[in-house]
Amino acid sequence: MNVSMEQNARDSFIYDVAVIGAGPAGVQAAISAWHQGRRVLVLDAGAVSQRKGRAYWAKSVEIEDAPGLGPITGPKLRSHLQGLLRSRAADDPREPHIAMRGAFVLRVRREGGLFTIAASLAPLKAGKVQQTGDFKAHRVVVASGFEDGWPDIEVAGDRERMLERYRTAFRYAGNHGGWHLCIRCDGHLHRGGHFVLLGVGDSIYEASLGAQDFTDSITVLTNGRPHGMSEAQMRQLEERDIRIDERPITSHLGEGTLLRGLRFADGEEIYADGFLVDEGLRPNSDYLADFRLRRNADGLLVTGDDSMVLREDGEPETGLYAAGDIVAGQRKLIATAMALGQDAGLGASDSLRRWQEAL
Ligand SMILES: Cc1cc2nc3c(=O)[nH]c(=O)nc-3n(C[C@H](O)[C@H](O)[C@H](O)COP(=O)(O)OP(=O)(O)OC[C@H]3O[C@@H](n4cnc5c(N)ncnc54)[C@H](O)[C@@H]3O)c2cc1C
Repeated sequence: MNVSMEQNARDSFIYDVAVIGAGPAGVQAAISAWHQGRRVLVLDAGAVSQRKGRAYWAKSVEIEDAPGLGPITGPKLRSHLQGLLRSRAADDPREPHIAMRGAFVLRVRREGGLFTIAASLAPLKAGKVQQTGDFKAHRVVVASGFEDGWPDIEVAGDRERMLERYRTAFRYAGNHGGWHLCIRCDGHLHRGGHFVLLGVGDSIYEASLGAQDFTDSITVLTNGRPHGMSEAQMRQLEERDIRIDERPITSHLGEGTLLRGLRFADGEEIYADGFLVDEGLRPNSDYLADFRLRRNADGLLVTGDDSMVLREDGEPETGLYAAGDIVAGQRKLIATAMALGQDAGLGASDSLRRWQEAL
């Protein structure tokens, strides 16, 4: 069999479990299901799109608290995880194994007990899908995480591609002295320094509480919007000398990838040691449009027993599991993502068992 015939044969295979996303959650889900003897397919968009997972944004900052991984940057973590999947491949697809495919999932459908997953297999050109493929599996684990919102400063509004649109913001993102996205992950880098937090409402209030573990010098910027916090929250911030500045911001002030400050529309400048942005999130779950699923206010999926995704009516959606950052009400951290991945992978695997426990 030549290489493309072999690839076609593998693509038409019906897998026990398909996992969408190869971040910490998806990789753990795949390994846990494989460990129970399942044939597992992992579809991940990183190879064919800019969606490489949240950890990938830790560009030059080392992640220090991922279980058993030691200090490691995001890109290195990503290649380490992919190595774990590759090492579980098998020559005979009937054997327990993990197959991996670079694929941006476009749609998931279920007919009877079988899921069909339609995906783009090559980078889009001018926003158009070039090559598609269908994959089949008895169970699906959704582990595709979410995309962070980016600051609305120096944005090229005429550009369609995210990377082009936010080019300036991305220059400073994920670096030691750049934009941070997670106070628990990067707050320690600026202990005792001046921290600027950008955002509005509950989430930036929570971030400013978290920032207090590292410093007493905190300023909240809203970039021209009302702060959106309650009176009680405002009182808390005042008592802790946390200043709120609602002036619009026009530009970044930096050198290379080092962000030093921001310029307001009135020309005044603010300088700081650390910068954190929280402009909300967008779940990577458009491909679930055919399902009516229960979601929280951010659009994250609500799960029940065994990590099964719940429908709007509160009942589990048979065969559909979720893990990691895409799950509502869980910490958005690597160890949590892995734990949820294990639960989803085992839940999916258990449900395939032919002999269930006697009642
Ligand atoms: C800058 C930064 C620093 C961080 N530092 C730390 C830290 O120090 N410690 C810590 O514990 N946590 C840290 N985190 C958080 C951590 O990265 C996340 O909690 C973790 O990556 C979540 O894992 P996940 O597998 O759920 O999602 P992700 O890691 O986001 O992975 C999702 C995967 O799904 C794929 N995908 C998306 N859409 C599709 C689609 N349509 N089809 C197919 N695949 C798709 C993506 O390619 C990606 O590989 C940090 C996050 C950021 C942004």
